[in-house]
Amino acid sequence: MKNWLPWKTSVLLMMTEEQKRRRIAENWASVQRTVQEAAIASGRCLESVRVIGVTKYVDESMTRALAATGCVDLGESRPQLLWRKSEAMTDIDSVKWHMIGHLQRNKVRRSLRCRPMIHSVDSSRLLNAVAEEAEQQETTVKVLLEVNISGDEAKTGFLSHELEPVLEAKPKAGVEVCGLMAMAGLGTDSTDARSQFEKVRELRDQLQAATSMALPELSMGMSGDYQQAILAGATMVRIGSVLFDGLIERR
Ligand SMILES: *Cc1c(COP(=O)(O)O)cnc(C)c1O
Repeated sequence: MKNWLPWKTSVLLMMTEEQKRRRIAENWASVQRTVQEAAIASGRCLESVRVIGVTKYVDESMTRALAATGCVDLGESRPQLLWRKSEAMTDIDSVKWHMIGHLQRNKVRRSLRCRPMIHSVDSSRLLNAVAEEAEQQETTVKVLLEVNISGDEAKTGFLSHELEPVLEAKPKAGVEVCGLMAMAGLGTDSTDARSQFEKVRELRDQLQAATSMALPELSMGMSGDYQQAILAGATMVRIGSVLFDGLIERR
C-alpha cells in the first residue's frame, strides 16, 4: 500500500476538466445567492457588493474556469502569482486583477503593469512608492489602506489612529485612495467578526467626516465571515476556499 492516496485526493484526481468547471459554476452560484441574501438583509442590492475570487489556491486552468463562470474580479496575495497569471490571461479582457497580500516596494513596478487594484497598502512608504511608479507608468492606481483592526502586533496594516494623517499627506497624483481593507483577527468567531467589521465601517465614516475625502470601498470578509462583513457594510468580499470547495483540499 505504498502508493495509497487519501480518498479525497483520489476523487480530485479522477474529476474531468468538465466536472471541475461544473463544480466551480455551482460554487459561484451558491456564493452569489449568499451574497444576495446578505445584501438584501442589509438593505442593499446585489450590485453593491463585488466578489473578488481569490485564486491563490489553484492553477491557471481553474482560474480561467472561474472567470468563465462570471467571476471576473480575481485576487492574488503573492506578487509572483499575480504576474504569472495576469500575463498568461491577457486574452480575457473582462478580468480585473486585485492585489490583496503584502506587496514589497521592489515588486511595485512589475505589479502595476498588471493594472491591479491594490487592497493591501499597509505603509506610507508603500503608498508613496505606488504613487511614484504609477506616475512613471502614466496611470492612476486605485488603492485601499489596510487597517489592523484587531491591533494585533503580528498583523500588517495601519493602526486606526494612523490613518487620518496618512490620508491628509497622501500623494496628489498616481494613487486614488478608495477606502479601507481589513481582516478579522485570527480565530475570531462570527459575532466578533461582525463587530470588528462594524468598527472598520465606523472608522471609515469618521475618516470621511474628518478629511472630507470620499472612501466608498470597504474590502472585508473572506470565506468564513463574508456574510457578517456584508451585513456590516462591505462593498468587496475576498473569497477563495468556498469557490473551490470540492476541488482543493479543505484547509
Ligand atoms: C487567502 C486570502 C483570502 C481568501 O481566503 P478564504 O478564506 O480562502 O476565502 C482573502 N484575503 C486575503 C488577504 C487572503 O490572503
